[in-house]
This record gives sequence, structure tokens and C-alpha cells, in this order.
Amino acid sequence: MDPSLALQELEKTGSDGLTGHELIDLKVTGGLTYNDFLILPGYINFPADNVSLETKVTRNITLKTPLISSPMDTVTEAEMAITMALLGGMGILHNNCTPDEQAAMVRKVKTFENGFITDPVVLSAKHKISDVLAIKNKLGFAGIPITDSGLPGGKLIGIVTNRDIGFCEDESAELETVMTREVVTARHGITLAEANRILRESKKGKLPLVDAEGNLVSLVARSDLLKNRDYPWASKHPMTKQLLVGAAVGTRAADRDRLAKLVDAGLDVVVIDSSQGNSSFQIDMIKHIKETYGTKVDILAGNVVTRNQAANLIAAGADGLRIGMGSGSICITQEVMAVGRPQGTAVFQVSQFARKFGIPTVADGGIGNVGHIAKALALGSSCVMMGSLLAGTSEAPGEYFFLDGKRLKKYRGMGSLDAMERNDSDNSGSQARYFSESDKVKVAQGVTGAVVDKGSIKQFIPYLITGLQHSLQDMGVPSLPELWTLVNDGTVRFERRSAAAQLEGGVHDLFSFEKRLYK
Ligand code: GDP
Ligand code: GDP
Ligand code: 5GP
Repeated sequence: MDPSLALQELEKTGSDGLTGHELIDLKVTGGLTYNDFLILPGYINFPADNVSLETKVTRNITLKTPLISSPMDTVTEAEMAITMALLGGMGILHNNCTPDEQAAMVRKVKTFENGFITDPVVLSAKHKISDVLAIKNKLGFAGIPITDSGLPGGKLIGIVTNRDIGFCEDESAELETVMTREVVTARHGITLAEANRILRESKKGKLPLVDAEGNLVSLVARSDLLKNRDYPWASKHPMTKQLLVGAAVGTRAADRDRLAKLVDAGLDVVVIDSSQGNSSFQIDMIKHIKETYGTKVDILAGNVVTRNQAANLIAAGADGLRIGMGSGSICITQEVMAVGRPQGTAVFQVSQFARKFGIPTVADGGIGNVGHIAKALALGSSCVMMGSLLAGTSEAPGEYFFLDGKRLKKYRGMGSLDAMERNDSDNSGSQARYFSESDKVKVAQGVTGAVVDKGSIKQFIPYLITGLQHSLQDMGVPSLPELWTLVNDGTVRFERRSAAAQLEGGVHDLFSFEKRLYK
């Protein structure tokens, strides 16, 4: 045959491999997991660092990367949530703690970075240096505008910063003895870019903005400019420039009070945390949240693994769906309850259905490597949620310990007896996830274990991002929306993997090897 006819020949005989729908053909294959298939390569005509990973977690929340950390007490507290958001993802704070503790974590994330600080902490000239130190201890900053009334909105008469109090030995001295009275200010109404320019030129750390009468309206911090420069992908609210954060709640009456505190602290996404989300409790909770808060918080509902479950939650008003039941690394739900679904099939079925209504999905559980993330996205999910993959990082709660010469961190399922016992006193948190708060016998749905030290997510997340960009490049796809379109129209192709193919795809036939993943 004439080689110049190769393309016509291909058109006649059809593409290699299977479409997504042919891959996830329930009658033929049963449920599939990520390891059961591969994505066939496409055509590359762009560099990997041009691949955009921008995506949505929920209807109204867009991120630069599809990476979310699990609401688990060995994975996400404030430090993980702050760092995930700085790197372009998002953290979901766990609820295995009191509502006040959880709200304090939300507040910590929301105050970490700002554009205009519209409710700055202020003091009066009669307050003492010890008051500034107490604020610094609790909130982490010491740049405090001084107003005549000691309240925001009062007339600005000075400012106290670290430099004013650094050499003072008498903590009971009044602020009027140390404050700077000649303050560089700007008029309320200027843009953030203008405010930043004045900060740069004045070389000051803070810029108070005042109205025509000299009353304090807001504050801009130089350190935020630097954070913005260092983390260009940070997940931020478009208006406030504060980092985005999610938090888990349950569906009991007390969770409504918990949520009120979280929203008051500035929560962006509420995750209704249930292993089986298709319940009247969850539907009532969704309706309550929509009625009470409108568009103030987005709801990530779940968990679901079937279209039937998804339909109920979408109809109730969910802004996003979390997919997975029994696929988590610490999870024994499928073993004990005999209920669940292989994750590949669950992600495809639910995501295809949800997409018709513009509802993003989060593939939750069972993500063990970059390839799994790429597969979850190819099957239609908008984001992935990771527990075990992040639990060994320095940003995860808990201390490292040594066992058999390995540096480890504890990682436990929220349905493990260990985690459920943490809140026996107030029945909150993880027991509710498994509807077992009133049971006499607690049936575990998770285990307690340990994971290996991974260092900081400041290195690990960029590795996941770069790995993903190369994966999409191999598929010949420059962005996630294009990936979903091309999977849907059958351009991106898949193939099942036999057991032997899975062995072939891993490292094999070596006497020994060292698996280093990134540098
Ligand atoms: P400071 O010099 O000790 O005030 O601290 P930095 O300027 O290094 O850091 C202040 C950080 O806290 C910035 O990221 C601010 O956005 C954040 N922040 C949040 N709320 C406030 C507030 O009310 N006052 C101040 N000064 N900073 C705040
Ligand atoms: P863009 O930079 O034009 O895409 O628009 P942005 O809304 O991101 O930024 C507008 C201005 O605000 C620019 O001068 C940014 O450097 C600045 N900016 C962005 N994020 C922050 C932040 O967190 N804090 C401060 N102070 N400035 C920010
Ligand atoms: P991983 O990323 O470790 O594979 O899975 C994390 C996910 O497992 C979490 O986001 C959550 O959905 C789920 N999970 C957490 N704890 C438990 C548990 O004790 N039992 C079950 N069934 N799932 C859990």
C-alpha cells in the first residue's frame, strides 16, 4: 500500500482501543479500578508546561490544580490547608474536634493571606504592649493600626509594628509611648495594584487606607505581596485574595451550629462528610444550607458511587459531588458492609451523569500515585481527594516516629475505632460519618496504620503537578476541559490491562532497585 494513504486507511479501519463508554461496559467487565486500564497515547504538539490543570471543585470554586486533601485528622488541619491552597489545591479541614477548634482552623487559613484586610485588628493608644503581644501570639501578626476609639472605623492616629515593640522591656507601657504617628496612608477606593505600588515605594510593611475624614477603612500588608509573588498558583478568593478552604461537617442538628461558626470564620466549601451520602439526613442538610447561606458557601455533597445516589443529591442542590465508597487505603467498608463500588467505574458513572448538570466531581480515595490522578481525571472527575498520599508529609498533623529504621507518620481511617473514640464525649466528628454515634457496638470501617515520611508537600505537590502535565501531554491533551470533551467524543482511547499487563507495567525482572520518584 502507498504510505501516503496511511491516514485514509486509519479512517477506514478506525482508531485503536476503546472509548470511555466501551471501557466501562458494566455487562462485559464488571467494576474497574484505576489499575485495570490504561489511556492510549495521543498526538503531542505542545510542551508539557503549557498544559493547564485549571478545574472546578464545586459550581463556583475554581482552582489552578485538581488536588484536594482529605478531611481526616491525620491529614488536614490548618497547616496542610494553607499549604495546599498556596500550591494551587485546597484542603478540607476535618471535624473530629470541637466546632470552635474547627472554626479556629478556618480562621487561620482565611487570615493567612489577604488583599484588603477589611476588618483589621486595631487597638487604642491606651492599650498596652502586652495587648499587642497577646494578638501576635494568637493570630501571628503585630502590625496594629491605632485609632482614637480603639475600633475599626475610628480616626487613625498611629500604628504599632514589630519594630516599635521589639526593644521595649516594659510590657505594661501604653502604646502611645511607642506608636508611630506619621503613618503613610492612602485613600480608600484605590485599587489593590495601586496600594501595592505605594507599599513598594514607601518600603513600609503596612498601608492603612482611610476615608476623607481620616477614619480607618482597611489595611494592606506587604507580606501578602510577597506571598502572592512566591505562590502564583495559590487558590484565592477573587475579591478578598484570601486562601480558599473547605471543612467537613456531619448531618445532625448540632452540625448546623458547627457550620454557622465555620461560615462566620469565612468558610468557602462545606463538605458533607458521609460514607453513604444518599440519605434523607443529607438532603435535609443540603436544603438547610441553601436556605440559610445561599451562595455564600458551596456544598460538596457525598459520598456517592452510583448515578441514583448522585441524582438525589444533585436535585437537592449539591454544588459538587464526592465519589468513592470503600476505595480508600485505610478503608474496610467493602469487606465489612459488602457495599461499595470499584473506584474507576464509580468515577466514570457519576461524573458522566453529573456533567450533564454542570456539577463538578471529586474522586475520593484510592489515589496511590500520579497515574491514578490522571486516570481519575480522564474518567471525568474534576478533582481528586487524597489521604494516604499526603499523610506522610510534614504538613500533616502528628509527629514522625521511627519503626524498623523507617521514619513514619500515623495515618488512620476516620471510621477506625481509634478515630471514633476520640470524640466519644460529644458524639461529633467521625462517628457520624458512619451513622454509628448511637450504636452500642461500634463497627469499624477503617484501620489505623502508618505511612512513610514524604518530606514537605512544597516539593511533593509540584511533583504531582509536573507529573500530571506530562501525563496529559502524552495523551495529547492540553487542558482538563479538552480531556473531558475528547474522552466523551471517543478521541481519547483506553485499553483494559490483563493481570500480566499490570505486571509488565511495573518494574520487573530486576535483582534489586531503588524507586526514587522526584528531585
Ligand atoms: P506583622 O508585620 O507582624 O503584622 O505580620 P506580617 O505583615 O508578616 O503578616 C501579617 C499577615 O497576617 C498577613 O498575611 C495579613 O494578611 C494577615 N492578617 C490577617 N488579618 C490581619 C490583621 O487584622 N492585621 C494584620 N496586621 N495582619 C492581618
Ligand atoms: P492580575 O495580577 O492582573 O491577574 O490580577 P490579580 O487580581 O491577581 O491582582 C491584582 C493586583 O493585586 C496585582 O497587583 C497583584 O499583585 C495584587 N495581588 C494579588 N493577590 C494579592 C494578595 O494576596 N495580596 C496583595 N497585597 N496583593 C495581591
Ligand atoms: P486514601 O487517599 O487514603 O486512599 O483515601 C482517603 C479517603 O478514604 C478519605 O477521603 C475518605 O473518603 C475515606 N476514608 C477515610 N477514613 C475512612 C474509614 O475509616 N473508612 C472508610 N470506608 N473510608 C475512609
